[in-house]
Amino acid sequence: MKIHEYQAKLILDEYNVPTPKGHVARSVQEAVQAAEDIGSWPVVVKAQVHAGGRGKAGGVKLAKSIDEVKSAAETILGLVIKGIKVRQLLVEPGIDIKTEIYLGIILDRASKGPVIMASREGGVEIEEVAKETPEKILKLKVPPTIGLRGYHCNVVAEFLEIPADARKPFAAVLKGLVQAFLDKDCSLAEINPLVLTGSGHVIACDAKMNFDDNALPWHQEIEALRDDGEDEPLEVEAREKKLNYVKLDGEIGCIVNGAGLAMCTMDVVKHFGGRPANFLDIGGGAKASQVADALKLITSDKTVNTIFFNVFGGIVRCDMVASGILSALESLPGFDYPIVIRLSGTNEEQAKKLLENAPVHLAKNMEEGAQMAVKISKERASA
Ligand code: GDP
Ligand code: MN
Repeated sequence: MKIHEYQAKLILDEYNVPTPKGHVARSVQEAVQAAEDIGSWPVVVKAQVHAGGRGKAGGVKLAKSIDEVKSAAETILGLVIKGIKVRQLLVEPGIDIKTEIYLGIILDRASKGPVIMASREGGVEIEEVAKETPEKILKLKVPPTIGLRGYHCNVVAEFLEIPADARKPFAAVLKGLVQAFLDKDCSLAEINPLVLTGSGHVIACDAKMNFDDNALPWHQEIEALRDDGEDEPLEVEAREKKLNYVKLDGEIGCIVNGAGLAMCTMDVVKHFGGRPANFLDIGGGAKASQVADALKLITSDKTVNTIFFNVFGGIVRCDMVASGILSALESLPGFDYPIVIRLSGTNEEQAKKLLENAPVHLAKNMEEGAQMAVKISKERASA
């Protein structure tokens, strides 16, 4: 799960990471009010969207007067950044930037734990630096058994050439960031840029935090920060219906029981030259209401032209799934998408009998099912 910069800064604030004291604004008028409340110039007006690279997209502007705040707020509230419409602004006192540093903690699969990433090339997109000049990035493991120690802070500060007078506040920021990452079950916690000011202060100028969705049941305070307006609408709907759905760009809507089989189904569709429209794991149950929800969800994506059910009956029996599909279709009159069904496993024969006269294409196995779905989808696309 992602949150906004202003929300990440409020969390960092709890961990004693210095952040500018900003205000959220949802209109030009509120932005002007925020600037007046700040009472010093310049202020910075920043788009709050779940996307990076806002600066490049024109979503971060310095303003030195009320008029400039007005025009900055007007412009930014009209922007669409990486497909997301800007609905909120953060207005903050401007920072006197001397040095911009990149500081991030990620969960690293290779080393199976949190890794600190740090670079003097702050402000810009770190992916670029990683690609062009990887030697400019320090990667340092946080040992899970002993956590972050003073000497880790020294190593990072040394690499970043932090001046002597800023070492203490820098170490405090690093400790705060790591602790926030661990406490909140982040998958990423990033300050880019972390700013060294002309007067020797260390301030988080930007902040980004992503969280492990599977840890959210332990973090009601994070769940409360969710902003559905930023997410893919179909994925929001799926979450409400407890369907495990990820939207993709293709034409073949896949409905599968089990996450592994769902991954595999996408591969097989792709292998036979088709394009999956989604990942969808309807889980072990496959009740009629669930199947109907899945069919509705998938077909509200207008790119979809074919449905492919790939079900392996184990604990959930194939005949149960088949009757689930039949009653789902009954509950959706006028549903006219071609449906390919592959059912294997427990009670497969009974399931096939049930579906004998149904308006669906039965496949012998997964390969055949995928091929049938791809063929039908292509015919429909060229029709
Ligand atoms: P991002 O582009 O989405 O990562 O947004 P950032 O919050 O990182 O801002 C982009 C850039 O705008 C920063 O790297 C800074 O160079 C600049 N910037 C942001 N806030 C301030 C500020 O308060 N003062 C000054 N001088 N520049 C700022
Ligand atoms: Mn940034």
